[in-house]
Amino acid sequence: MPKSTVPNEVCDQKAHLVNEYETATAEYLRTVRVLKRGIGIHTREDYEEVRAAVERTRVRSEDTLQDLDNHIWEHGC
Ligand SMILES: [Zn+2]
Repeated sequence: MPKSTVPNEVCDQKAHLVNEYETATAEYLRTVRVLKRGIGIHTREDYEEVRAAVERTRVRSEDTLQDLDNHIWEHGC
């Protein structure tokens, strides 16, 4: 009995990493929306705080994508 006849069987780890990337990216977009909503409302201090959160979540999003790239390269999946 063959394990699977589907050519591109989804690797569990890969699926997990894609989910991580999706979550991190959603969080990044959420902070960008906060930044946008703050136009005309936020003080300079508020802006700096949200801007820092945007940067943090952006880096996290990039890191999770890098993890996915590394996994695909190492695993060949
Ligand atoms: Zn894999």
